[in-house]
Amino acid sequence: MITNPGFSFSGISGTHKIVPVNETDLPSWGENYCECIVCTYDGELVKVYDNGPGFSYLDKSVAMEFAAIDITDRNAILQFCNRYGMPGSMRQFGNFRNDYLFFKDDKDSFSKVIPLANRQERVWLYTVQRDILQMQMTIELNQSIQDRNLQRIIEILLYFCFDLHGLDFEGSQRHTETFQFNHYFYRYAEENGFTLHTRLAGLSIHDLITGFLKDIENDYHETEMYHSYGFPRKEKYVQFYFSTWQHLYDLFSFVTEKEKVLDITPFGEVIMSDSLSNYISTFSEKDADGVLMCAKAVFSDIFKEHLHAVYPEMVFSKNGDPESSWRIPSLLDAMYLELFFRFSPNSSVRKCQNPDCPNYYTRTSSRPKKIYCSESCALLMAKRMERDRKRKAKNKESKL
Ligand SMILES: [Zn+2]
Repeated sequence: MITNPGFSFSGISGTHKIVPVNETDLPSWGENYCECIVCTYDGELVKVYDNGPGFSYLDKSVAMEFAAIDITDRNAILQFCNRYGMPGSMRQFGNFRNDYLFFKDDKDSFSKVIPLANRQERVWLYTVQRDILQMQMTIELNQSIQDRNLQRIIEILLYFCFDLHGLDFEGSQRHTETFQFNHYFYRYAEENGFTLHTRLAGLSIHDLITGFLKDIENDYHETEMYHSYGFPRKEKYVQFYFSTWQHLYDLFSFVTEKEKVLDITPFGEVIMSDSLSNYISTFSEKDADGVLMCAKAVFSDIFKEHLHAVYPEMVFSKNGDPESSWRIPSLLDAMYLELFFRFSPNSSVRKCQNPDCPNYYTRTSSRPKKIYCSESCALLMAKRMERDRKRKAKNKESKL
């Protein structure tokens, strides 16, 4: 396939504010979904991505800017929306069609031509917070693979597979094995008393996880038995015949045998009964490889899931010449597309190792050991480590 690493995307800037959900037409789905971001004023059409071929790693990155937002910082979230528009907005729906040709307009600016009817642009605040969180986790998952940080990998996989805080409706489609795993877990939790409004209530997340793993296993054995007697039976979890589910199943069975999952919080914290590190140290080389393989499969699925609505399309410029382009429904899709291109054979995206710095950076093959986002973070951390060394030496002296 021909790939064009450059792409363009326009958002609509504006003024946004946070309001209680009952001031909008959106339903409330319990405590996580009680506030909304609404657009109170439409601003200008802004080119968020305007890269021709040769999209450079030195260019400023909107995806990294988004991932660096502290999800509890409501002002930072609003500022981002004011500047580029809402990340999941489908305002660009005019761009899905070829109408721009009939109006003799530029495709990128055509979405401005179609008014939003009577509907106000709005989204649950928690939806945007989750989008930020999941982008942060995606980048961290890759970083943990590179650093072979097994503990962090397991926590992130537990989050993606067993999180129940998002919205997941009966008919909603999941395109990849990882997200189908979470979808079926959600269904299983609902069958066992979980609801969007009462949430876990008296249920334990650990029991739900182990129960779900048992359900997969039982279904598999039952289907095998039917088949061996020559009876047809439609399996509940057909994904279990493929490697990703089998590996995830093995990993989670292993983890939940040793440890209890106490909580997976709305903001993505995974709380275990004991530190995972104790028994990770007992892992064989083969165990560790299994965890890394799962992590790679999930990392790959995250991009497939987010980019399934992005596809190549032929457009015509104003002077009538055909041009290759990409159909990108939302800013969120565009940001994942940006990350997709940034994770090339010779580069990856990582978080700055200065604990006080929220920034991300692109690590390229010319500096494969780079751990800070900037010179200033590197200097600051060098000074800090120097101070720590001196303090320790002094303490030693005073003890003598
Ligand atoms: Zn930094």
